[in-house]
Amino acid sequence: MQVHLRLGKCGAWLAIAAVVSLFACGHDAAPKSVSAAGNSTANSAASPAATSTGAATMPALPTTQQVDPSEAASPASQTGGFDGAAAYDFTAKLVAFGPRPPDTDAIRKTQGYILSQLKSFGCATSVDDFHASTPIGELAMKNIVAKVQGSGKGIILLLTHYDTVRIPDFVGANDAGSSSGLLMEVAQVLCARKTTEPHSVWIAFLDGEEAQLVQNGVAQWSNDDSVFGSRELAASMELSGELKRVHAVLLADMDGAKGIKIEKDPNSTPWLTTLVWKTAARIGYGSIFVNASNGGVQDDHKPFLDRHVPAVDITEFPNYPYWHTAQDTMDKLSPRSFAIVGHVFLESVRALQGGQH
Ligand SMILES: [Zn+2]
Repeated sequence: MQVHLRLGKCGAWLAIAAVVSLFACGHDAAPKSVSAAGNSTANSAASPAATSTGAATMPALPTTQQVDPSEAASPASQTGGFDGAAAYDFTAKLVAFGPRPPDTDAIRKTQGYILSQLKSFGCATSVDDFHASTPIGELAMKNIVAKVQGSGKGIILLLTHYDTVRIPDFVGANDAGSSSGLLMEVAQVLCARKTTEPHSVWIAFLDGEEAQLVQNGVAQWSNDDSVFGSRELAASMELSGELKRVHAVLLADMDGAKGIKIEKDPNSTPWLTTLVWKTAARIGYGSIFVNASNGGVQDDHKPFLDRHVPAVDITEFPNYPYWHTAQDTMDKLSPRSFAIVGHVFLESVRALQGGQH
């Protein structure tokens, strides 16, 4: 993911500090503080090596049992059936696979885990294996889609990516463990429902959102080196004729941190953004889905927007100081935040099923 309007923010910064380089400005548009150097122990908590060796100095992988009570999720009965603790635990399992860049053993294990879980929830699934040309060579990638059949032709499409950026020791608890754990729990809820809704709901777990080229620890985002899985899905749905059946795309990306705050993405479709924010306010989360702009984000919704499909990005980017750092670990996440965003996803889908747009 990338901030869209970097130069605008740079301009403001340059006025303050004329010596700041353009390169540094690009960073400034995104979170830049890798706070606590002393977090290195907590950071290693999420690495499989730490848990498998059982080294005394390395705490075990966090589970919901170890979470601070103030970060506990509300019961699922109060959040539309969405279990924030379950979403958090799915995320912990994904993170335990370690760094998950495309075409690695770790991401293949991740794919197997996601697919087996979706099947255990009773979801119909489809898998698209494809190859992507990237600046570091051709990479095998895989999109996994869970499908909840509706009575009509319409499709509501939910998206997350499950790959992690190719930065050393980066385990991606929030980016993009959280959104993947979140949509796994959404899939568990929707695939278990016995009633048939008007629109099908497709829940897509996408590969290759991140730029593959990394220099000096910074992913080199470009139109050609990003959102590979989303471009593949949008193109294949256009070819099959399914794309014109899509009423709305709801994208989750970084949605599980403690103290979560989600701002509006001005690149997203206005009416759909309004629907989601009104839904959040109606169910009591107006202080979390705030009425402010995040400056514009490039993300997996772009290939759909480019094809004139309504889409909204629901992300706490850039309000997460550990973004693309090795400190993006489970201890930064909160089951409570998962429950809030999951509730908003389910209620927004319900609003779209009711034809609210
Ligand atoms: Zn990222």
